[in-house]
Amino acid sequence: MSHLENRNREYAQLSPEKRVEKLYSDYNKILVTSSFGTTSAILLHLISRVNPKQKVIFLDTTYHFAETLAYKKQLTELLQLDVETVRPEEWKNSFTNTDQTWSKDPDLCCSINKVEPLDRLKAGYEIWVSGLMKNQNSHRKQLEVFEQKSDLVKFYPIIDFSEHDAAAYIKKYELPEHPLLRHGFSSVGCIHCTVKGRGREGRWVNRSKSECGLHI
Ligand code: SF4
Repeated sequence: MSHLENRNREYAQLSPEKRVEKLYSDYNKILVTSSFGTTSAILLHLISRVNPKQKVIFLDTTYHFAETLAYKKQLTELLQLDVETVRPEEWKNSFTNTDQTWSKDPDLCCSINKVEPLDRLKAGYEIWVSGLMKNQNSHRKQLEVFEQKSDLVKFYPIIDFSEHDAAAYIKKYELPEHPLLRHGFSSVGCIHCTVKGRGREGRWVNRSKSECGLHI
């Protein structure tokens, strides 16, 4: 059995809280990212309780809803987060804006505005923490707590949360909701690629795309 299979077996038995606690005793260079989307408060709350000094990276594509930026501010203040905003290269981002690349080649647009900025960061880390859940789409359904991704290991402490678990966690800790949730947006990404819908059905509508490229 490989090292990661062992880790998966070990961590699968633990609660999300215990998984995060154990992570900080097993690893050092830990990268945490957040999109400040509709379920982001769960992971951010977990991390802030276990390691309040953890830096959280926010990838600012420049195409976020104003409501997402307001929610980021709200959660940052509430949970006392240390958030660092990372942006794409200006000239490339400007090109996507002029070209409206999201409408012609959303993979290229995501690559420029999300994947490349994060790739520049990844080098200094051994593990990347993310709040993916199996219930979100078919790709995520196959994931376990740890996943090897090139040179980096990914860690998903709430991967086995159901929609009910997520809602119960938010209620238990009285975490604020993303402002667009009450307007029918179950999942929120960039303005150009998000409409109302259940689950992730409002993301990249009428396209085969279901992930931005960060997680595949
Ligand atoms: S989600 Fe849409 S607008 Fe945002 S980076 Fe990807 S293609 Fe571009």
